[in-house]
Amino acid sequence: MTLIASDTAHLPLMGEVAQQNYPTATLYVLATPIGNVGDISLRALHVLRLVDAVACEDTRNTAQLLARYGLSKELLAAHEHNERAVADKLIARLQAGQRIALVSDAGTPAVSDPGARIVDAVRAAGLRVVPLPGASAALAALSASGLLNDRFHFAGFLPAKAGQRDAELAELQHITATLVLYEAPHRIVDTVTALAAIFGPARQIVLARELTKLFEEIHRCTLGEASAWLTADAHRQKGEFVLLVEGASSDGDADMREAERILGVLLEECSVKQAAALAARITGMKKNALYERALQLKQKA
Ligand code: SAM
Repeated sequence: MTLIASDTAHLPLMGEVAQQNYPTATLYVLATPIGNVGDISLRALHVLRLVDAVACEDTRNTAQLLARYGLSKELLAAHEHNERAVADKLIARLQAGQRIALVSDAGTPAVSDPGARIVDAVRAAGLRVVPLPGASAALAALSASGLLNDRFHFAGFLPAKAGQRDAELAELQHITATLVLYEAPHRIVDTVTALAAIFGPARQIVLARELTKLFEEIHRCTLGEASAWLTADAHRQKGEFVLLVEGASSDGDADMREAERILGVLLEECSVKQAAALAARITGMKKNALYERALQLKQKA
């Protein structure tokens, strides 16, 4: 069953959508659903019908998605390993007057997804790029989080290696905006554990899982409670996650301020490594994060 064939209430609007100008020689950066096939705009569907080809991360995935809307198009593979090479081919086709859509597997292209290099190259060639806005997991999670902060810092995926992840978290811990992270299910418990260790247990976290899908779940708790919530039920560790972490209080994070005071005293007598190890034992915070902070304090001194 195709989605459009079964729902005709929007059809009068399609005429209005079609009246807009859709220039040729243009790349259309087009957001696709992050789960629910219904989360695509009428304008995006109109453009998908109009374009000469669709550049996409995974041709099988996009072929299936287009089929759900009753569409079939020429598909051009454009993933993170061939973005530069494919940009040249797209530019040649755009210069010949074609319209091409750029999509990723889910959500908005170039947001923790390939696409930015292609857009950069197309713009540099003097060609037009038109966005077709739609689903993005980060904004969907933020809109339903209830976290009262107008500002957010989108950090996407943290590094996979624990040392690099902790160093990045140590840099992010003083940001007062809500922190937005994407995370894979097999790392979710480790990541929330690291967040609690480095940011302290008191801040709020929102775990937004499987947004727009059957098992959608949006759970808010403190960082100190998050790991226990995830491990209480194996299903809670499955699927796709957005993590939203309350920003540091504007006068600084109390746990880290205390850790910095302790590190300052220890650094008068010990090496950076010893100071970090002792501070970790005193505060219960992660040694790696304290090591990074001790290095920064030493350099400032
Ligand atoms: N470009 C996409 C966007 O605009 O949101 C993000 C693509 S990124 C490769 C995929 C990650 O986004 C997932 O690992 C997960 O962290 C997050 N994500 C995507 N869909 C999601 C969903 N339905 N629910 C929760 N998180 C999702």
